[in-house]
Amino acid sequence: MHQKVLKRLELETCLRQALENQEFHLYYQLIISLATSELLGFEALIRWHHPRQGWISPSEFIPIAEETGLIIPLGEWLLQEACQQISILENRFSKFNSLKISVNISSHQISQANFVERVKSILETTQLKAHYLNLEITETVLMNNIESGCFKLQCLQNLGIQISIDDLGTGYSSLNYLQQLPIDILKINRSFVARLESNPEQLQIIEAIIKLADTLGMKTLAEGIETSEQSDLIKSLGVNYAQGFLFSKPLNKNLVEQTLYSLSDSSSMWKTDCQSEFRI
Ligand code: C2E
Ligand code: MG
Ligand code: MG
Repeated sequence: MHQKVLKRLELETCLRQALENQEFHLYYQLIISLATSELLGFEALIRWHHPRQGWISPSEFIPIAEETGLIIPLGEWLLQEACQQISILENRFSKFNSLKISVNISSHQISQANFVERVKSILETTQLKAHYLNLEITETVLMNNIESGCFKLQCLQNLGIQISIDDLGTGYSSLNYLQQLPIDILKINRSFVARLESNPEQLQIIEAIIKLADTLGMKTLAEGIETSEQSDLIKSLGVNYAQGFLFSKPLNKNLVEQTLYSLSDSSSMWKTDCQSEFRI
């Protein structure tokens, strides 16, 4: 207990300096269309390289960043960095001229009164068109600020930005709210996918999510696809998009470029036989 408290205090102190010391890095995980096997874009995932403790998972430091309010400057930095990076890739790889970038947004960010203005300003400075950006929001984020959250999401969607609900089924969403919110994509949490082969009831849950998405005019994305069996199964159920270690682990920006070079040489189709080269 004592050790845990000490570690947390140390993380909190270091977190304050980490942004200045440029210890954060963005990694990018590929998102694939299951129908066409095309690469659609990436999800940006933050990593912290601590000078003594090495790589620290976002699950460990994002909650501390939220509690301390550091998530605001951190979130701003990572949104800017992700938009900048995809803008560079769009210019460098003319063949991939419609790659989207998905960025995770925390509840504190969306609670900011000027959140929509901040996103607009980042799009302007990075010269990224709004329809290349997708913001991932968890159910809990929305349940905390339902009315103002809904209004801000609508403003963002009106600009052309896509909205996804992340980790669907793990929070406390009300189906009623899902209907009112401007959502483009429902992301099916990997806990449902992981148990797919051993537990057929998971199939029915995924089928129900797909039906719900269809009824509400939304698309579905399954997270955490690790095997080709899982990929085939979710494809046969009608899930639209997928991401997971089967296609790629989160890649640093050099590996993203290598992947795009390799795909430009062949076709824009994602081939699972080249994935191992790009694993980290
Ligand atoms: P998430 O947004 O649901 O991200 C998906 C997580 O699943 C990532 O973990 C990713 O590395 C992992 N993952 C992807 N495919 C597979 C797979 O096939 N198998 C397994 N076992 N795992 C897979 P990561 O990067 O550790 O991120 C964890 C969570 O931390 C994210 O969940 C997100 O909630 C949060 N996070 C990450 N980056 C950011 C960020 O930039 N901003 C904010 N606010 N939160 C972030
Ligand atoms: Mg996410
Ligand atoms: Mg998720």
